[in-house]
Amino acid sequence: MNAILPKIKEYSQNTNETTIKIKVLIDTLYNNQRLEKSQYKYILDNITEDETEYLYQKAFEAKMKHYKNKVYLRGLVEISSYCSQGCKYCGINAFVKDATRYRLTKEEIIDCCEGGYILGYRTFVIQGGEDRFYSDELMIDIIKTLKSKFEDIRITLSLGERNYLSYLKLYNAGADRYLLRHETASKRLYEHLHHDFMSFEKRREALANLKKIGYQVGAGFMVGSPTQTNEDLVEDLLYLKDLDPHMVGIGPYLCHSDTELKGNDSGTLTETLIMVALVRLQNQKALLPSTTALGTLDKKGREKALHAGANVMMPNISPTKHREAYEIYQNKICTGDTSVQCRGCIELRIKSQKHQVDLGVGDYIDLQEGAIK
Ligand code: SF4
Repeated sequence: MNAILPKIKEYSQNTNETTIKIKVLIDTLYNNQRLEKSQYKYILDNITEDETEYLYQKAFEAKMKHYKNKVYLRGLVEISSYCSQGCKYCGINAFVKDATRYRLTKEEIIDCCEGGYILGYRTFVIQGGEDRFYSDELMIDIIKTLKSKFEDIRITLSLGERNYLSYLKLYNAGADRYLLRHETASKRLYEHLHHDFMSFEKRREALANLKKIGYQVGAGFMVGSPTQTNEDLVEDLLYLKDLDPHMVGIGPYLCHSDTELKGNDSGTLTETLIMVALVRLQNQKALLPSTTALGTLDKKGREKALHAGANVMMPNISPTKHREAYEIYQNKICTGDTSVQCRGCIELRIKSQKHQVDLGVGDYIDLQEGAIK
């Protein structure tokens, strides 16, 4: 069990005085883009459904100020379900014996991106478990091939922890961005969720290295993971404020029955939307994905996230035959859809929310052409 956002869980109601105090703190966060530790804690300890609408509305305003109603699309290629890591929540971690394992060849990855390019995508997110098969040499070859075929694209890597030199080589080969969720900024919780051979410090060092090299960096965390507390979530907010990443992926913890954490409650949509909105208010220029995991929790989860500050979606362009095997969590939506179907479905969903599809490269706002730095 996690112990976050108690009043949301209990459907409590606040006195007028508490509601006003929460709204004042939300306004302060909107204006100053930071709060004190105790102020974040006050919001998380006391927020009820009565204040969430106000929170989402302010987060939406913050998004509109910097990105308007654009939603950037990224084509997602899931290249490998092999992983040497031991994240206890993940359905493809090294200890899950029954997981179906596959990996894509260089040619298959290029084919996926070619198909994605025809569908209009200009950012490709190459994501996989930590799989040593993808050596620096192979990744450099893939990155250079993609960059020589398509001049007007960005390449985002999401391949887990690698050493500084490896990150540097991939950056020099043409990779533009790197996603590496920190998962939790609480050392206690990190150690609860990961096997002993994984290191909280190493994960943070990897993120610091990526920033130092010059990548547009994405961090991120899970909401509702087993034993998570409001103090842990406050740590996430403070860490993200300090790191100042270009992207932040925030998703619910979704319990997988083949993992060591089986039997735990999953995170909820409301908990996750609250954290998306708080991050939007404090890291106002960050690109925030509306994750597929939210769509798994609630049919309209991804649409709701757009109204809580999210502005990126990542339709899947991986080969349909492997989609189910990339089962980091269960009951993942869209695994049977082709890239073309995903493209159409996502566009309709975005338009239905009076948002605009943006198929440009969608850099962090200060790095966009003509941006006032
Ligand atoms: S979360 Fe990523 S690094 Fe961790 S086990 Fe799953 S695929 Fe591997």
